[in-house]
Amino acid sequence: MGFRPTVYNLARNLRLNGYVTNTSDGVIIEVEGAAAGGFESALRNGLPPLARIESIAAHEAPPAGYTEFRIIESSEAGGFTHVSPDISVCDDCLKELLDPADRRYQYPFINCTNCGPRYSITKKVPYDRPNTTMSVFPMCPQCAAEYHDPSNRRFHAQPNACPECGPQVKLKIENEKFKNVGNGADPIAAAIELLRKGAIVAVKGIGGFHLCCDASNEAAVRLLRERKMRRNKAFALMSPDVETIRRFCIVSPDEEAVLRDMRRPIVLLRKRAGSGLTESIAPKNRYLGFMLPYTPLHYLLFYYGQAGKAHFDAIVATSGNLSEEPIVTGNEEAVERLAGLADAFLLHNRDIFMRVDDSVVRVSDGKTLFIRRSRGYAPEAITFDDDMPDVLGSGAEVKNTFAITKGNAVIVSQHIGDMENLETLRFYEETLENLRQVYRCDPAAVAYDLHPGYLATAWALEKISEGKMKGLGVQHHYAHIAAVMAENNIRDKVIGVAWDGTGYGEDGNLWGGEFLVCDAYGYERAAHLSYIPLPGGASAIRENWRIAVSYLKQAAGSGDVYQYLADAGFVQRFGKNKIDLLLRIMDDRAVSPLSCGAGRLFDAVSALAGICYESTYEGEAAVALESALPEEGAVLDSGTYNYGVSGSAPYVIGLSGMISGIAADLKKAEPAGIISLRFHNTVIKIIIDMVCRISSENGIGKVALSGGCFQNATLLHGVMEGLSARGMRVFINKEIPCNDGCVSLGQAYILGMRLKAQLNPV
Ligand SMILES: [Zn+2]
Ligand SMILES: [Zn+2]
Repeated sequence: MGFRPTVYNLARNLRLNGYVTNTSDGVIIEVEGAAAGGFESALRNGLPPLARIESIAAHEAPPAGYTEFRIIESSEAGGFTHVSPDISVCDDCLKELLDPADRRYQYPFINCTNCGPRYSITKKVPYDRPNTTMSVFPMCPQCAAEYHDPSNRRFHAQPNACPECGPQVKLKIENEKFKNVGNGADPIAAAIELLRKGAIVAVKGIGGFHLCCDASNEAAVRLLRERKMRRNKAFALMSPDVETIRRFCIVSPDEEAVLRDMRRPIVLLRKRAGSGLTESIAPKNRYLGFMLPYTPLHYLLFYYGQAGKAHFDAIVATSGNLSEEPIVTGNEEAVERLAGLADAFLLHNRDIFMRVDDSVVRVSDGKTLFIRRSRGYAPEAITFDDDMPDVLGSGAEVKNTFAITKGNAVIVSQHIGDMENLETLRFYEETLENLRQVYRCDPAAVAYDLHPGYLATAWALEKISEGKMKGLGVQHHYAHIAAVMAENNIRDKVIGVAWDGTGYGEDGNLWGGEFLVCDAYGYERAAHLSYIPLPGGASAIRENWRIAVSYLKQAAGSGDVYQYLADAGFVQRFGKNKIDLLLRIMDDRAVSPLSCGAGRLFDAVSALAGICYESTYEGEAAVALESALPEEGAVLDSGTYNYGVSGSAPYVIGLSGMISGIAADLKKAEPAGIISLRFHNTVIKIIIDMVCRISSENGIGKVALSGGCFQNATLLHGVMEGLSARGMRVFINKEIPCNDGCVSLGQAYILGMRLKAQLNPV
């Protein structure tokens, strides 16, 4: 991250001699000269943008008589060097990019020591040009001079390039309809014209391709939905600056800071009513995901030929992939796999070595919470308080990641995606191979999810059976809570609230409304939501109204379920025959597995309230349910529904009172927003009451919250506020998502801590 050049320049400014080098123990700097005493504070105050100092140990040494200050190349022996994440173009480079007098005017690959691609172009460490995909571009004399000049801001900038010697862009128009756009000589101008005309353009970025279209062109947005076969899942947007984003969304100062951050994540922002953007960008969603441009090429799509005024207010920039496959990275791969999706391809010849999707975050109460951790953040290490043996956490299934440990560092991979196809498994294996090599991690053991159907579990079990590693199965929700413990360096017992959609339970049922008491060495299931059948299994998750039928049947007990079904309008909507069939298969465990997933409760209530009956992507019904809430402050004290708790531990939380209450509200024709509000109030109350009960029975004051349900801002805020007010210390996932993207870290943590304590030899 430009650390050694920074040290070099500081030392030279202070007229100090000596050297700087990377070793397995960290960076070693020796400085000699009159001003040596001021070096440490100068270093602390003069760090490059992405560098952070974990600790400094300084001591005096006898003079060695150095005659200059040198950067000694990284030693290969034993240790590892961190790989920096990819970072957005910096302000200095941006200024040059748009300056007609600069030799890199409008050059899409401008970068410097402080900015540009890193992880995505690094084939192996140390991070030097020959080890990157820039190795095929010999620097011209001018670039080489900059690269070797310690006073130049491109000193040791590995991807340094210019129009004379570096990569170039090229436009490939595939759709006959647009063949005559542009003159072939000016690919960026032609790409802008194509977007203006409503075309979908695949644009090669840092870690993969985006599919782009003009966000103000409703026909283009709809066409992209149709071609990507993506019915409702929100598209991400890119705008030229924060002022423009503010026209579409409410942007707080905290959110603005995250948008402007050089890591450039997509930030979920509250939609502004009547902003003028088409609803089809993010249907039934109170949030829009916005990011600022992060490559010079993105900036040129907005400002090419006219630095003062942007060509577009917003463009859709969604991952260039086929539904659930990994994001496309290679030129030929893109043209082949995205054929039929894109009308044209804006390509370039700087290869992407590592795939990295855009990161997605939300800002809540001043904290940045991850939905997806990838570009700009991965593969930055998370540090523990103490060392661990080398282990691997293989993760779960959806939104998967893996985690490897090295010393006191855990490296959680970038978002790999849903492990449902071989392309994703290949991406998983390639990334694992690369990060293991970079961090010199040689795991002797692997922790895996208990679900026998998960691809990552099958992969881990295969390695174990081949005798390559030892193994430990870790229950899904326990891993969620362990991830929070790992990130917050908690060693004592916590009450873990793991609320998500699905995770395989020790009893063979699907868990997900869990209250655990645990530490790294074991867990107890203290309470959970009551089980209900999922009629038709996976198809009930897609057709979430079926789960509502299941809850209604449970609530009706021996009473008349058809009365409830009529109150909810289900008989009219879905027909008696279909409902009869569901009721008939409800008790057949072969087709209707039992689940206590909280996510399934959100699915059911979303359908009951008439908000969302079918989910075209994971979490859609819950997102729509939260989005239906009345505007803040509209109805503060709206009340809660009833619920029950069984007599002894593990406590079972009965939801029939709530479901009956909702049915009664439906009969009274209460608005969906009010039902959503009462539901949110109730689940918040359930969590607070249950945690307080477990706390007083076990004498534990620390609570860890995890699981995809806590992506719901209303739930998270309500629970955190309520528990804190009752004197509990509440911990959440900080640097990784609370969804299944955190499972790998929890697995690695449990396995590492047990190996370290020489417990459970596995
Ligand atoms: Zn720069
Ligand atoms: Zn050059």
